[in-house]
Amino acid sequence: MPAVPAATEAVLRVALPLPLPRLFDYRAPPAWRADQAAVGCRVRVPFGPRELIGVVAATGPADTDAPELREVLERLDPDPLLRGELFESLHWLARYCHAPLGEVFATALPAALRRGEPRPETRTWAWRLTEAGETARGAMRAGRPKRLADLLHAAARDEEALDDLLEGWRGVARTLAGRGLAERVAVPASQLAPAPQAGPEPNPEQAQAIAAIAAGSGFAPLLLDGVTGSGKTEVYLHAIADCLARGRQALVLVPEIGLTPQTLARFRARLGVPVHALHSGLNDGERARVWTAALRGEARVVVGTRSAVFTPLPEAGLIVVDEEHDGSYKQQDGIRYHARDFALVRARALQVPVVLGSATPSLESLHNAGGGRYAHLRLARRAGNARPPPVRVLDVRKRPLDNGLSRELLEAIDAALASGGQVLVFRNRRGYAPVLLCHDCGWSAQCRRCDAAMTVHGGGRRLQCHHCGHRQAAPPACPDCAGLALQPQGVGTERLEELLAQRFGERVPVLRIDRGSTRRRDALQKHFETLGDRPGVLVGTQMLAKGHDLAGLTLVAVVGIDEGLFSADFRAAEKLAQLLIQVAGRAGRAERPGEVLLQTHHPDHPLLQTLIQGGYHAFAAAELAQREEAGFPPFAHMALLRAEARHADPPMAFLQRARALLAEAAPPSSAVGQGLVLHGPLPAPMARRAGMYRAQLPLSALQRRDLHLALDRALPMIHALPEARRTRWSLDIDPVDL
Ligand code: ADP
Ligand code: ZN
Ligand code: ZN
Repeated sequence: MPAVPAATEAVLRVALPLPLPRLFDYRAPPAWRADQAAVGCRVRVPFGPRELIGVVAATGPADTDAPELREVLERLDPDPLLRGELFESLHWLARYCHAPLGEVFATALPAALRRGEPRPETRTWAWRLTEAGETARGAMRAGRPKRLADLLHAAARDEEALDDLLEGWRGVARTLAGRGLAERVAVPASQLAPAPQAGPEPNPEQAQAIAAIAAGSGFAPLLLDGVTGSGKTEVYLHAIADCLARGRQALVLVPEIGLTPQTLARFRARLGVPVHALHSGLNDGERARVWTAALRGEARVVVGTRSAVFTPLPEAGLIVVDEEHDGSYKQQDGIRYHARDFALVRARALQVPVVLGSATPSLESLHNAGGGRYAHLRLARRAGNARPPPVRVLDVRKRPLDNGLSRELLEAIDAALASGGQVLVFRNRRGYAPVLLCHDCGWSAQCRRCDAAMTVHGGGRRLQCHHCGHRQAAPPACPDCAGLALQPQGVGTERLEELLAQRFGERVPVLRIDRGSTRRRDALQKHFETLGDRPGVLVGTQMLAKGHDLAGLTLVAVVGIDEGLFSADFRAAEKLAQLLIQVAGRAGRAERPGEVLLQTHHPDHPLLQTLIQGGYHAFAAAELAQREEAGFPPFAHMALLRAEARHADPPMAFLQRARALLAEAAPPSSAVGQGLVLHGPLPAPMARRAGMYRAQLPLSALQRRDLHLALDRALPMIHALPEARRTRWSLDIDPVDL
């Protein structure tokens, strides 16, 4: 790290969270000693009439030609907050995304630290019994105080562990403390470690995978390609335990809805060390605490969602990305990073193994494994006694449907319930019905601000736009013809719930699980607990597709997937195949055999045929061949320039100019199909959303270098375009939605 020159001369080059691709120079305050590291520290600086928090990215000698520089107002860190590998990897990310370093730093830091707050206290708080408490314990009557006292008997327990062990323990602890029986103490994490619980003996496939991960030295990407229920999590747990035994930290990334209290409890119990969770359900203070605990090396295992990929790992030993194909790893605004891809970059810089796990690996990862760039570990069988469920296609062409359900399907549900099983009905469309239609004149309810139909909710009483959130009451009569023939068209999860409750609700519970019914992270768990192992019906969206083990699930019924078969997005087939396999994988997880029914009007569709006859890998091979033919990722590299404005013209005008600049900047092509290919500009698939007109310019190149070269050259000019000021625009490298 470069030493700061004599303080009076030192120039601090500060990365500020502004959409400008440059650093900003400030004079170091006189109090800043020359021997203090500056790079990576946060500073408060004047910026125009405002004050901003930034991070020192570099230092330099004072430039005598430079105009009078303003002085840093305050130094916020005594030693660098961003440093070492993370600091370097964030530079890489800024270059890769062609994004300002200051915005990348701001994305990586937890909000509290971004705002300039001091690094939080990170000691682990635990509770233990006082001597009086130990004495009193024997005489306590059964009840919650006694249960807590028993848990604290002989050893302190950290607060996170108590969260898993006894609901509402905090109030009980306060009561005990008030009577002098228990006390709260800060302890080193190492003193807490309860003995890890033993897991099942790994089967030969698992043992092989565990050995392969342990054998790697330095950077080693491994694709753990294992069918649902094959014991991938067991493999992670062994690899993490190995990593901990070597005295290193482990980072585990999970999809947004995969991080349930149940998952955390499993990790905590099995690893026997505090496991720190990082996810969107935490408040700013908690996030900053976990991040800082990792920076200090106190957090040894961090399990988190997308943004946890920015966790500092000074003693890294392993990174795991569970369900690596999951769409929630891609950030969709601001700095549009992909957490899986950035995890790979960090693992390389940290020289540690990175395990990508999935039952339905992304085509990118399969392609990399096929090309020998990743080790390919297969778990082909389910662990324990569970068997994969057979899939049966229900051809519903010309069959009468009752609210979208065929008679055969209803009979199958009936039979499954009668034999004591649980049923999952999957429909990836929340709400009551996708459209409100007038049967007299053909009018349908459209969102005023989007090119999209309003979804019917509340059994037909309310309308809601799923794209901009706009809500209104359903009109009592048709606004066009004043007729009274308004009817909800099609079926969403709400309507399915209503129908299934009418049929089966007297016999068994019928529960709906989607974002409407299950806003909170633990609400999902509550639903599952309500059901327990009694027979019952769950209706839901893809929220049901992952995460939770339902031991009694014997029938999975998939309805209404047909629209997904004919999407224009080149990734639609991959997403649909993954979803179907993941949903199907919920059946027959434990001792009971399961069955999957797939109701469709297109039983002969090649996607369904390949998937059912050959499984996911046959589908993936066919799909990869098509992608190669068509020149799509992973055989080409893409970027997307997006623009939007309140009127339709500015985005197109801007993208036209940008296109011209990019075409000029593109390296000359040496052969057909080489170099940069520009398509468009075109209106976005949803040309108007939340009142904004949207257009896009896709760029692709066979060589990643060609794409980045052209962008490096053209972007400064694109930034400077007068048209750029009349639209909101952004660049997305490796976009997932086109
Ligand atoms: P995945 O992560 O691939 O879905 P899990 O690791 O959650 O699979 O394992 C699925 C189920 O199988 C769990 O209940 C787990 O305890 C059990 N299991 C995993 N490995 C074994 C094994 N070697 N022997 C017996 N049961 C196992
Ligand atoms: Zn009408
Ligand atoms: Zn809308």
